[in-house]
Amino acid sequence: MKVTLISHTPDPQRLIETCARISYESKNEPFDPKVNSEFIRKLIKNGHESPLEHASATFLIDGISRACSHQIVRHRLASFSQRSDRYTKYDAENGAGFVLPTKLHSASMGDALMIQYTEHMEKSYALYRAMLAEGVPPEDARFAMPQGYQTSLYMTANFREWRHFLKLRLDSHAQWEIRAVALEILRHLCVDGMYDCFADIQAEFDSEASTNGREPADDTRIFGHTSEEFGKLPKDARDDLLPKASLVQEIELPCTKEEFEAMPRDEADRIIRDATCHIAYPVLRYRFKEEK
Ligand SMILES: Cc1cc2nc3c(=O)[nH]c(=O)nc-3n(C[C@H](O)[C@H](O)[C@H](O)COP(=O)(O)OP(=O)(O)OC[C@H]3O[C@@H](n4cnc5c(N)ncnc54)[C@H](O)[C@@H]3O)c2cc1C
Repeated sequence: MKVTLISHTPDPQRLIETCARISYESKNEPFDPKVNSEFIRKLIKNGHESPLEHASATFLIDGISRACSHQIVRHRLASFSQRSDRYTKYDAENGAGFVLPTKLHSASMGDALMIQYTEHMEKSYALYRAMLAEGVPPEDARFAMPQGYQTSLYMTANFREWRHFLKLRLDSHAQWEIRAVALEILRHLCVDGMYDCFADIQAEFDSEASTNGREPADDTRIFGHTSEEFGKLPKDARDDLLPKASLVQEIELPCTKEEFEAMPRDEADRIIRDATCHIAYPVLRYRFKEEK
């Protein structure tokens, strides 16, 4: 997955302040960045967010699964342009790859699910190419492609909507892939000239991440490859890698085995979700906190 900031309103915080000050018939002249910073934070604190709509940013979000893009395009106040799989074809030679979901390990099957998953993706792709070769148009052949195959889109939104998107999609209940996208977007937006528009969201995310001891997903590697890179590797290269190493990543849960077993089911599910939602790694195993 790659998130690129394509463009944003020039000097966005200054524009937001200029527009908002019409309400008060006041000006910040000569322009003072410190006053501007405080002004923007106060607007947000007071819930006076409509001036943030005057600034916008456009991102290219590349190499995400269709499952993830489907969630992203539910944000109705943003604008999208997505790669068409009617007018373009999935082409492994040109980098059509798939994303590995995070939890392909199971107690009874070990790593076998991951191998089955990659084979399933390859078979689907082979069927898709066979359909094209028989003259089936791409708009019909694409029905054979699973949701894990990658897509790309441009997304433009104003800052108020980006704030809304980030709050929903950085939350620990959001799905790991869209969460990783949201985190990349947050990082691009938390820079000079627009930082104050998103600082509270970053602070909340950092404090939640440190409370729960979680690391963001985007640095995780599968045998040295990102999830996206791994999905794009030729079959031979993947086959070479898969059997060679243990795919298991151990996650420590914040409770003892006894505590876990005594918990109501929804509480236990929440603990697992919180412990793993940042992990872009296909195989997880849980370790309980030691008794003191
Ligand atoms: C953790 C999580 C789980 C989810 N699970 C599901 C699921 O199981 N099934 C499912 O279908 N979706 C699910 N969604 C998607 C969710 O329902 C929203 O479609 C998505 O998050 C977009 O949010 P939104 O509508 O607030 O955002 P936007 O579409 O960007 O809208 C922004 C805001 O504008 C206002 N707005 C926009 N359009 C209207 C309108 N027509 N009328 C009134 N106000 C409007 C609302 O205040 C809205 O919050 C899930 C989302 C999350 C984060």
